[in-house]
Amino acid sequence: MEARPGDGARALLRILRDLPGKVRPEEPLAPHTTFRIGGRALALYRPPTEEALVEAVVRARSHGFPWLLLGGGSKLLVPDRGFPGLVLSTAALRAWREEDGTLTVGAGTPLSRVARWGGWKLAGIPGTVGGAVAMNAGTRYGSIGEQILSVRALLPDGRVRTFTPEECRFTYRDSLFRRLRLPVLAVALRPDRGGDLRTLLAERARTQPLDLPSAGCVFRNPPGQSAGWLIDQSGLKGARVGDAVVSERHANFICNLGRARAQDVLELVEFVQDRVVDRFGVWLSLELEVVEA
Ligand SMILES: Cc1cc2nc3c(=O)[nH]c(=O)nc-3n(C[C@H](O)[C@H](O)[C@H](O)COP(=O)(O)OP(=O)(O)OC[C@H]3O[C@@H](n4cnc5c(N)ncnc54)[C@H](O)[C@@H]3O)c2cc1C
Repeated sequence: MEARPGDGARALLRILRDLPGKVRPEEPLAPHTTFRIGGRALALYRPPTEEALVEAVVRARSHGFPWLLLGGGSKLLVPDRGFPGLVLSTAALRAWREEDGTLTVGAGTPLSRVARWGGWKLAGIPGTVGGAVAMNAGTRYGSIGEQILSVRALLPDGRVRTFTPEECRFTYRDSLFRRLRLPVLAVALRPDRGGDLRTLLAERARTQPLDLPSAGCVFRNPPGQSAGWLIDQSGLKGARVGDAVVSERHANFICNLGRARAQDVLELVEFVQDRVVDRFGVWLSLELEVVEA
């Protein structure tokens, strides 16, 4: 017999009970992340429509529950103790409409589909369009912000608003949506078919440790420098805490060898930061999103 959900999970089930789709109480989050690390959410809800997502955020807010948007979970480190609130997965929001050469998609659309449609610079980046817009994901060839025509997102007061590219405030791996925690609902993009997607995929397969769970680059590149190079030159490839290890293939990746805990990753992060400061006097800040309640 399954254990009965605790009080917090039951309170969440109650406030969401008339919304469409299933709410899963005390859902383990590790399988929802590419790092395969982290404890349970109080509840996980996958709204089948944009309206249901908006309503769930509004209700979580008004009842004082922490909430977190989950795309592909490919940039997240979930703490071992889990997340004491509502995790909202955008996985079902996959509307797809092409018109006059532009593409409008729901936030949960896999980024790989958009890359194949006309976003070669984004080839091989895991996750969803919503997560990519929040993070202004990209490669050394360019970022998703350069292709955005408009973004529809939820404001803190519960209204939905459409943002122009300038209003999105895209900067290096950052946007207004990430800074203000505004849920991205849908995105309109123009194509960029100027390059070869397959060459980029092959380059990534050669240079990234794609055979082990990770969350991509852990540290932001300091202006004009490569975090991976600084870590490599500090002799840190292969450095390990528990089952968390600095990749031998790409020094800015931390991989999970199997049973890594979030605590292991955080200790390894600190170790790397200290060593790089000692060697180069440069403090590496995090690109990895460490989930906080
Ligand atoms: C092997 C590997 C390679 C990678 N390579 C790259 C790379 O080359 N370039 C790069 O930029 N990144 C890379 N990443 C990191 C990651 O894939 C990107 O940052 C990706 O865009 C995150 O999207 P996601 O849907 O997985 O977001 P998640 O990890 O689910 O979430 C990331 C952040 O965005 C927020 N978020 C998610 N969805 C929404 C939404 N709809 N509205 C508002 N906020 C939202 C979350 O709350 C969280 O703060 C890599 C990761 C891996 C594992």
